Amino acid sequence: MIGKILIANRGEIALRILRACKAMGIKTVAVHSDADTEAKYVRLADESVCIGPAPSAQSYLNIPAIISAAEVTDAEAIHPGYGFLSENADFAERVERSGFIFIGPRAESIRMMGDKGSAKQSMIAAGVPCVPGSEGELPDDPKEIIRIARAVGYPVIIKATGGGGGRGMRVVHTEAALLNAVSMTKTEAKTAFGNPAVYLEKFLENPRHIEIQVLADEHRNAVWLGERDCSMQRRHQKIIEEAPAPGIARRFIERIGDRCADACRKIGYRGAGTFEFLYENGEFYFIEMNTRVQVEHPVTEIITGIDIVQEQIRVASGERLRFRQRDIEFKGHAIECRINAEDPFKFTPSPGRINSWHPPGGPGVRVDSHVYSGYTVPSHYDSMIGKLITYGADRQQAMARMRVALSELVIEGIKTNAPLHQELMDDLRFIEGGTSIHYLEQRLAAKQGDKK
Ligand code: ADP
Repeated sequence: MIGKILIANRGEIALRILRACKAMGIKTVAVHSDADTEAKYVRLADESVCIGPAPSAQSYLNIPAIISAAEVTDAEAIHPGYGFLSENADFAERVERSGFIFIGPRAESIRMMGDKGSAKQSMIAAGVPCVPGSEGELPDDPKEIIRIARAVGYPVIIKATGGGGGRGMRVVHTEAALLNAVSMTKTEAKTAFGNPAVYLEKFLENPRHIEIQVLADEHRNAVWLGERDCSMQRRHQKIIEEAPAPGIARRFIERIGDRCADACRKIGYRGAGTFEFLYENGEFYFIEMNTRVQVEHPVTEIITGIDIVQEQIRVASGERLRFRQRDIEFKGHAIECRINAEDPFKFTPSPGRINSWHPPGGPGVRVDSHVYSGYTVPSHYDSMIGKLITYGADRQQAMARMRVALSELVIEGIKTNAPLHQELMDDLRFIEGGTSIHYLEQRLAAKQGDKK
């Protein structure tokens, strides 16, 4: 087993990884920027190293500084968390070449999934259902482009193979707009991602976002740990996640889960990962794979009783998975609300000092957050300051507990999106379950309209 881990991240996930290490008796090294010197997890770590000034390009994305911090502290492995360098194949490669264990998949897997074109092709080959569309990159011949779009049927979406973060996509409703949209997306993709390649797929009008968590070891064992419904999004950013997904028959989930675990075995995947799907009319369509731990992993931990971060560490040290698919049981329901330092309805960031912080508690409540009274939220990073997770025997109980938890939560000094979560927990469509990825934006737009 690994003896010492360097945590190459910040905020709540740095604290989450630290907790997993401590529970396993593993020593920890926290790296931090000048803006995070006072952070709780930096104090709690066995050792800490400042890796640069506040801007992430000079600290959390600074590969040489992170590797030399691992060298001077004699760390054996590096956990990248999510965001920052977690899906950077070059980083994974350099970590391993410098003699450390990268707690994540092999660099080739990250690279394969990082390019949407190759990700989709490898998924088709592995038997995972994808959105119907062009086979790989769109050709240059306009006649061919028109033929492909007709075969797929309008509306279609043009996507940059090198795209990410919700950028490099364009929806096309009519043939008249097709060729122009393709050339515009290509030009943008070239500027933004240095790669003009685009592909085309069917645009799904009202899908839900359903994802499957997987865990695989180096010995080609793989399991899936159920699904999460992350349809409550704004600008492709998830704000509420839950497990299981309300209203989807277990046999559909089992079928897609088995496909995902199978794909992991076929591509030789190692570590934790997530297959993201759009779900519409009873069908799943793969959109991308995240090759890292995700923000919303706690809801899965709760319904399966499996500590995903600890399992990441175990498989990274070469151990075999300790369970098979039939050992995995799903129990109850869990919901997560992301707490962001932002205006709840205008969404402008609200960094600054938290004068007072009182997290909720009681049965069925988990709070994953690094903040405390007197903590200053830096303006340099993502606005998420923590996650409020509740669980119960069923969805109704988990939601009832979330309402109580939100009413107990006190955060003074900065604005947060807690009032939005309170509204959503009383929203009749959300209570019913199964809203699409457009629901939140439509609801916000309708509210805006009411005010005018
Ligand atoms: P990114 O890597 O930029 O997040 P994704 O491929 O995951 O890109 O797509 C981001 C979002 O764009 C999806 O969550 C969905 O809302 C929308 N989207 C992507 N492809 C389609 C599609 N074929 N039909 C409908 N919406 C889509």
